[in-house]
Amino acid sequence: MVITSLDFDKPGKQQGFLQVPYSHNLGGWANVMIPCTVINGGKGPTALVLGGNHGDEYQGQIAAMNLARELAPDHVRGRIILIPSLNFPAARAATRLSPLDGMNMNRAFPGNPEGPVTSQIAHFLRTTLFPLSDIVIDIHSGGRSMEFVPCAHMHLVPDQDQRRRMFDAMMAWGTDFAFLYADIAGSGLLPVEAENQGKTVITTELGGGECVPASIHRIARSGLRNVLIHTGVLKGRQITRASLGKPPALITQALNRDDYLLAPESGVFEIAFDLGAKVRKGDIVGRIHHLERPDRAPEPVVAASSGYLITMRAPCLTQQGDCVAVIAQRVSEKDVLNA
Ligand SMILES: [Zn+2]
Repeated sequence: MVITSLDFDKPGKQQGFLQVPYSHNLGGWANVMIPCTVINGGKGPTALVLGGNHGDEYQGQIAAMNLARELAPDHVRGRIILIPSLNFPAARAATRLSPLDGMNMNRAFPGNPEGPVTSQIAHFLRTTLFPLSDIVIDIHSGGRSMEFVPCAHMHLVPDQDQRRRMFDAMMAWGTDFAFLYADIAGSGLLPVEAENQGKTVITTELGGGECVPASIHRIARSGLRNVLIHTGVLKGRQITRASLGKPPALITQALNRDDYLLAPESGVFEIAFDLGAKVRKGDIVGRIHHLERPDRAPEPVVAASSGYLITMRAPCLTQQGDCVAVIAQRVSEKDVLNA
């Protein structure tokens, strides 16, 4: 059972921890201490800002830590709860999954108050933090496994009003690409739980990998502020793409399983397109080379649909069944809101 000394209703700014009991060989009565900042500026909506759902995705963790230090209660209309490194043990270990229990925070819902550490955190979000929140921001990147075109993204939720709120907030991030995605790898996702509770859920894929360029940190920082201003939690003026002289974001979707290309066999993957490039159905998106038999022709990976290369596998070394590329089709705002 997660405990905290934070009082979420108390006005002002508090820095504290979510504490999860974790008994191990050298710490029989130890707790995992997950840093959490609460900035309560009085009446208004509540935004929950999460980084490090996957431990090796540092873009959101850095943006949330910066914001947590910078904000004062008079900047906020309502309340902002920031947890920069949600899967804290994974963030310390630079791993996607928790090293304590092997669990993926983004497959751990609904969670269990008596379960492993990751499952307890999921339960606390579902039963305590999500009910307090109007807006849930879950900042991802591709981690060490994928490299994305930096984008804000969302699920096509069935409720029309919620979809509109989520779409507008996704666009407020200000990225060049917006992306509607499907869950092709399991259930128990954090955003799905928040969506099911009716929240305005904003998620991202801000690049990936272990090398995070300054341009991506800028997108993380400005996008997070823009969304908080757009949703009315943070005071200030939103910086829109139009105000920067940029064209509207390209809206894309990959909702079919065919859009997610999996490695047909193990080997070394060579991508044939740059991220964000246009790909036509039938194009060879990449090839898998055989380390042990370089004389064998590499195995082609063929696009099953036309669109844009929205993400690619980051490490060249690939196992059969790894996702090596995703092709997303261009759609209009009308398509999204009326689908
Ligand atoms: Zn992630």
